Amino acid sequence: MSPSPLTDLSRLCLHTITTKPWSIEEACDRYAAAGIPGITVWRQWLDGRDPAEVGRRLRTAGLEVVSVARGGFFPAPDHAGRMAAIDENRRAIDETAALGAPVLVLVCGAVPGQPLAVSRDQIAEGIAAVLDHAKATGVKLAIEPLHPMYADSRSAINTLAQANDMCERLADPQVGVVVDVYHLWWDPNLEVEIARCGQMGRLLAFHVSDWRTPTEDLLNDRGLMGEGCIDVPQIRGWVEGAGFRGCIEVEIFSTRYWAMDQQQFLDNIKQAYLKHT
Ligand code: ZN
Repeated sequence: MSPSPLTDLSRLCLHTITTKPWSIEEACDRYAAAGIPGITVWRQWLDGRDPAEVGRRLRTAGLEVVSVARGGFFPAPDHAGRMAAIDENRRAIDETAALGAPVLVLVCGAVPGQPLAVSRDQIAEGIAAVLDHAKATGVKLAIEPLHPMYADSRSAINTLAQANDMCERLADPQVGVVVDVYHLWWDPNLEVEIARCGQMGRLLAFHVSDWRTPTEDLLNDRGLMGEGCIDVPQIRGWVEGAGFRGCIEVEIFSTRYWAMDQQQFLDNIKQAYLKHT
């Protein structure tokens, strides 16, 4: 059974990458003017800026800073590479804390040609190495399982079961998971695994978009909700059934949508959110 329809925008959050042509300042002003209450900031949008200052600006505009994307990419073929990744994740945690966001999203990484099980061990070691730092700064780390088409180079964690297993292995309340419908919609165990992370209090974020047929680009052809084959309301029902009451984050990488007028796109997102989420 689907949950009752969304009737307002009070839980809507946009990722800055969804409106990629806009700077953080423009995104801040436009989201606030459009009545969008939440923002997830991709780290590139902080380049050359003071994260604390950006955080103040966003909050002054009335926006809630929901999370930062992204840390991770822990696996590397050599020790030096893995140490560099750990340092980079400490910086990402610092930026997240300075911005005032409670969660850092982890795209965990993979190395082409390296066995996935080895990469998963390196991911566990990498997260464990930054856990104290995350705790000291109050930032939660959210493991985002990625669709298996990215298992070669972006993430060796490809199902919610694997993300939940990783949380159990790390056994620390500072670590949780992200449910992104684009990555997980196909999984026959999705409902069960959503309930599992909910029971453990580990469901930290919920990302929405849609899967277009045909998908013309493996990375940059995501659809608006309602435009593809994902039953987003059903998955939202499972997520809410697991106790999740946080923001619903629209995360769309789309060469087509980045090419259109972004203000019009923003209106389209609001419509799709109310009708198909
Ligand atoms: Zn996502």
